[in-house]
Amino acid sequence: MPNNHIARQTVDILAWKLDGIERDAAALRAEFRRWRELTSPEQPLEVHHSQVKRLTHRLEGLLDAVQSTISKPAEAPASSRVQHVREAVSGILSVRRIWEYFRGKLGQREQPRLAARLGVADDLAWSCYEPLQRAAKRTASNAAVDIKEPPLVYFNGGASPFAVARHRAFQPDDVDQEWENPLFGPILEDLPVPVLGLPWSLADRLPALMCLTHEVGHVAEEDFKLSDAVKRVIQDCVRDDPDSSRAAVWRAWRRELFADVFGAIAGGPSFTFALATYLLDDSARLRGETRSRDFPTDYPTAHLRMVMCRAVLRSLGHDASALESAWPLDLDRGHGLDDEWVTDAVTIARQLLDTKHAQLDNLSLHDLVAYTAFDHGAALGIGRLLREGKDPAPLATDVRQIVGAATLLYATDPATYSAHELDALLVERSRAARDPGARSGGFHPRDLARERDNAATLAEQDKRAGQRLLARLMNTGGKS
Ligand SMILES: [Zn+2]
Repeated sequence: MPNNHIARQTVDILAWKLDGIERDAAALRAEFRRWRELTSPEQPLEVHHSQVKRLTHRLEGLLDAVQSTISKPAEAPASSRVQHVREAVSGILSVRRIWEYFRGKLGQREQPRLAARLGVADDLAWSCYEPLQRAAKRTASNAAVDIKEPPLVYFNGGASPFAVARHRAFQPDDVDQEWENPLFGPILEDLPVPVLGLPWSLADRLPALMCLTHEVGHVAEEDFKLSDAVKRVIQDCVRDDPDSSRAAVWRAWRRELFADVFGAIAGGPSFTFALATYLLDDSARLRGETRSRDFPTDYPTAHLRMVMCRAVLRSLGHDASALESAWPLDLDRGHGLDDEWVTDAVTIARQLLDTKHAQLDNLSLHDLVAYTAFDHGAALGIGRLLREGKDPAPLATDVRQIVGAATLLYATDPATYSAHELDALLVERSRAARDPGARSGGFHPRDLARERDNAATLAEQDKRAGQRLLARLMNTGGKS
């Protein structure tokens, strides 16, 4: 009799838990629909339509899988139903944590001032990412579901994009230790929207924003599977290295050197200026810097980072002499490197610029994303109009040229730049130059036909990919 009483109690508790899980799932599905509406045509956040659609479809697939674990027959033993409920609670919590990671970043756009600033940053990141994404879409061997949406930029508490190792970008909010799961980071990184963090110090000014191209370099290496090509370039370029010791150090620097070179290709002199400014901020460390041959850090030495960027600029036809003269020569004494390291740096940078990639329609970064001497000339032209008190609208149609103009103006005449509120004016120009509609695969007229053909298939593929996430979350790491 007492046992039956306990059994009845257990069933009631399970039913109560199940009802809570179903309500949680329904609330999440309603929130996903609300965000798809918030980003629908002609809404203020319409540019994020394709990102939100693909993310929420993945998470709806994960929710489907979670809910299917609790729809087992009621006559199943109580112990197995308890286990299913526990897994479902863990699964729902996982969906919430993954969604919160992105919702918090999207939500920064609900404040108009931040939305305007993030709009420029999103446009800048997209202008460097889109040419690669389009090339990847043209390459038949790439599956549509593996091609990601435009990057999502957000402000965080970091000091500089130049100082944050990429793997630390994917940390969900802290929660109870019981629910910690080391797989969250890799899962967030695999979802179809790359994220890029910017320090809050850039929320008020454009001139250093070109540093964002370094972060785009990181996601480009991952999303377009460029790592093997970078490793081959290092192997090919490091010569006279009988015990492979230099090559080993260059390989340890691979991610950060690629991000710098990508930044210099896509951001030109403005990027290199932003990097030099950051590096000089820490001149005490610079003077003591050595090559770290035995214990290389993630980053090449400051001197080699500048050597690589200047090599890229020269190859693109820019005049790098101003940057050379701006770099205090006495800081070079601390680099502790022999000439062969400098030769390696120049050769690797040039080769990364010109290497063709089969998965990018057999094009190079030079072909796809270079900030050319023409772009630099346009930035100078925008700056000239602003200094003369004229509206730069006729020239200011490209976000990288606009940010380039802000950097040049601020570097040469910071007082005028600040006194005339040119920063706000350039943010407005950038907004006016933006295409309407979603940034990728959205409802822009030119995308409509493709959208109709592909949307249903892609949504289905995303839901199936989301369903597979549950097994990945539960198999290891998750304490369920
Ligand atoms: Zn980095």
